[in-house]
Amino acid sequence: MTKRLPREQRIVEVLRTLARETRKGRYQRAPVYEGPFSHRASPFMELVSCLVSQRVRDEQTTRVCAKIFAEATTPEELRALPLPRLERMLYGAGFYRQKARTLHALSEAVIEQGNVVPQTREGLEALPGIGPKCANLILAHCFGQPTIAVDTHVHRISNRLDWVRSKTPEKTEQTLTPLVPVRWRARVNILLVAHGQLVCRPIGPRCDECSVAPLCPQRGLRRRP
Ligand code: SF4
Repeated sequence: MTKRLPREQRIVEVLRTLARETRKGRYQRAPVYEGPFSHRASPFMELVSCLVSQRVRDEQTTRVCAKIFAEATTPEELRALPLPRLERMLYGAGFYRQKARTLHALSEAVIEQGNVVPQTREGLEALPGIGPKCANLILAHCFGQPTIAVDTHVHRISNRLDWVRSKTPEKTEQTLTPLVPVRWRARVNILLVAHGQLVCRPIGPRCDECSVAPLCPQRGLRRRP
């Protein structure tokens, strides 16, 4: 019955439920809440972890970032790491040679701006390797701006919940943003990523254990027998 609520109300209900479950500790094992960048030490570290995470599993991102942050947490420290050493740290995180070069370029760009990470989407997207998802993530997590970072988890779950019907993350962001109240937007990514890592997984979603199942039409999933 709750499924028939207007879409905006369903969205808020789902976000409230996930936030409540998070407070109770249900998602504490999610990789997004673990690892060296879970404490949000600095915007620069968020930039680095975001770049490392591209096209790689969350667990790999955590492992690789732990190695990098053990030796470098500032743009100067990262730029000073020799390229071959950085490549070895990134090995296993997909396109490791390219990512090592991009991390050096990113460090240089931030150093050139006085070691300040930009606080606008345009400024962030002008940095090497940073696209719309990373820019929105930094704006929301580090600067408290009401943006929605749409990664594969947010894109997939938003479609399953029938919040949007879109084929690309970009289109999902465009459609979803005006539907989510401003006060919730910055939390959409972290809530849905944790949910996607533990429950609404890409393959084999655990609908039987899902706290938002009454609000979900499971769009695109094969119906259970
Ligand atoms: S009911 Fe299934 S498809 Fe819907 S959000 Fe939960 S796990 Fe995902």
